[in-house]
Amino acid sequence: MKSYNIAVLPGDGIGVEVTQAAMQVLHALSPRIGRDLSLTVYPAGAGHYRNCGVALPDPTMRACEAADAILFGAMGLPDVRGKDGTEIIPQLDLRFAFDLYAGVRPIRSWPGLPTPLRDARAQHIDLVLVRESTEGLFYARGRGVVQQEGDQTIAYDTMKITHKGTARVCDFAFRLAEQRKHAGRPGRVTNVDKANVFTSMAFWRDVFLERAKAFPSIQIDHAYVDAMALNLVMKPWQFDVLVTENMFGDILSDLIAALVGGMGMAPSGDIGDKHALFQPAHGTAPDIAGQGLANPSAMFLSAAMMLDWLAERHGDSAMADGARAIELAVQRTFEQGAALPRDFGGSSGTADVTRAVMERL
Ligand code: ATP
Repeated sequence: MKSYNIAVLPGDGIGVEVTQAAMQVLHALSPRIGRDLSLTVYPAGAGHYRNCGVALPDPTMRACEAADAILFGAMGLPDVRGKDGTEIIPQLDLRFAFDLYAGVRPIRSWPGLPTPLRDARAQHIDLVLVRESTEGLFYARGRGVVQQEGDQTIAYDTMKITHKGTARVCDFAFRLAEQRKHAGRPGRVTNVDKANVFTSMAFWRDVFLERAKAFPSIQIDHAYVDAMALNLVMKPWQFDVLVTENMFGDILSDLIAALVGGMGMAPSGDIGDKHALFQPAHGTAPDIAGQGLANPSAMFLSAAMMLDWLAERHGDSAMADGARAIELAVQRTFEQGAALPRDFGGSSGTADVTRAVMERL
């Protein structure tokens, strides 16, 4: 039987709970698609840092490097800080270490789940935000300076935009729009920048336009990030694929999650040319951790994204079938009213949602 090695990093807080739920789903799916999904759990995270002084142990890093894909829960705890006072965020280190340059955040509306938008067209939200994840303003992480200039104390963080970094993430967005076009979507990429103010962003736009020429079947348009924040609330059903700089993508990805009811339904993939990591867009949710209340759907959908990525990479359509099976099981769970998670005002906890999804696999 064809086999895939998945490095599983549950992490902290509800990361552990939703990862356990996703492992149950993947174990149940494996014989049905005739694929051995070998799931091996490795330690990492803020809890591990507190106990052992290291957030991402070397053996965990090596296992991630050797694995076919990485499935990641969530990491970080409010009371655990590094020596410089910053949060323990190993997911950022993994992004840089494995050059996971495309942060892929798909969202869609789910029949049966309420959205905060009143317009009936909100039932047709189906878009993907592609966030550049290795440079932009996040390049400044660990490099910022606070210095004295005359009688002023001034802090600087630098935004870095390279031609290579921008071209590869734009290409990724164009290829994604091509694939979605084959599946009946409009085939459009909207570039989100701030080219009217910043030299770095005008450069970003030039690279986007240069790369667009290689994808003549894809429509393009542009939006400034501030206008995009407005449009994503006013008419999100109009968008297909969005591509943007790291910090803008960080902010907009939480905004788009809210459009479909919150973080519990927002999966994500951090994808590079050789490696990829899949995780729910939410954090460790310390306010509900340990109580079995977390909605595991974002994690299930992240696992489905992982199967899709492996399917494409290995030309293995059974893995794509597995991805569709998970998505459909999640869809039917809510469509049929079999569960309503607590983040949507219901009373279904992690185990209830997991049971309902597994019954529909
Ligand atoms: P981070 O900084 O890592 O993104 P955060 O604390 O800002 O973390 P989350 O951990 O995502 O953000 O939590 C934000 C809010 O959303 C919290 O109130 C949390 O309880 C809720 N939340 C997040 N994920 C889920 C989930 N899967 N199910 C239910 N509620 C969730």
